[in-house]
Amino acid sequence: MIDLRSDTITRPTDAMRRAMADAPVGDDVYHDDPTVNRLEERVAELLGKDAAVYVPTGTMSNQIAVRFHTEPGDTILTSTDAHIAIHEIGAPAALSGVTIHELPGADGTFTSAQVRAAVPQPSPSLPYWLFPPVTLLAAENTHNAAGGTIWPLERLVEVANTAHALGLATHLDGARLWNATAATGIPEADYARVFDTTSVCFSKGLGAPVGSALVGDRDVIDATRRFKQMYGGGMRQAGIVAAGALYALDHHRERLVEDHDHARRFAEALADLPGVEVDLDRVQTNMVYFTVADGEGFAARCRRDGLDMIALGPTQIRAVFHLGVSDADTDRAIDIVRRVASPPADGS
Ligand SMILES: *Cc1c(COP(=O)(O)O)cnc(C)c1O
Repeated sequence: MIDLRSDTITRPTDAMRRAMADAPVGDDVYHDDPTVNRLEERVAELLGKDAAVYVPTGTMSNQIAVRFHTEPGDTILTSTDAHIAIHEIGAPAALSGVTIHELPGADGTFTSAQVRAAVPQPSPSLPYWLFPPVTLLAAENTHNAAGGTIWPLERLVEVANTAHALGLATHLDGARLWNATAATGIPEADYARVFDTTSVCFSKGLGAPVGSALVGDRDVIDATRRFKQMYGGGMRQAGIVAAGALYALDHHRERLVEDHDHARRFAEALADLPGVEVDLDRVQTNMVYFTVADGEGFAARCRRDGLDMIALGPTQIRAVFHLGVSDADTDRAIDIVRRVASPPADGS
């Protein structure tokens, strides 16, 4: 089975497993695990920041940031269908007591003008206490629900600067920031620079089994350690899994361009098929979203032929490329969607 459901389904390679088996460990709850500490230093340095905290998941990393930057009753700004808004199971409301204002934009980006318009401007007639405080802007790069799309750096910097000027804190959900960097050549640190906190995942395209990190200034990260512990993120001998993340940082970042090439080739083949619609402009990294008349039916026929993808709604299907998918797998995936989209006339 060629599994394109997500880039989270990757398995650790033999070399990664050896690195994990050999990792020195300690008790991370006491910040005493040398491998976790080495990973935190490494990822902070890569992102051009002082410090990082290793956590089990990207959801926890984002939610620790939301908790740190807000008070109950606040509103946070995200893009439409941001992971924080729709895939974290109501955590901003449940854990931090905040509401979300989603800013629309087809490619998962938005503008400074939208940020300004979303932050209430008190006046003598309408004093500040009549509005919920808008205290955090969270951008997502690459943007999952928009198709793995990349923020143009200039616009990302501009919206973050606008948010700061309005008194908001800023957070970057960079679960797939590595993919943005692989596609553009712009260093991760350039994207992270204007944000107070940035979250990155090791368990997506990088192929590590477990973990994410929240990165920022040292005083900020030290303060978030309390929330890691509060949310149940104290992992004890976590060096075993952190070693997989360290290995992935060293060995799996540059190869992400291969996933992007595979996604592009798959998308271009889809674009030629009858009854299939794909917006090639949105295929910028390792994801391909496309629509067909019957999403579940199409996905089921592909699955029967050996290609697994997720049907996301009545007509939409998502395919995600990752290190478990070779050139030959991509060729075979293309053959399968071709056959399913245009069955032979004799019905065989
Ligand atoms: C996957 C993902 C996360 C975090 O997911 P976990 O499964 O909790 O690690 C956060 N943001 C985005 C955009 C993601 O795709």
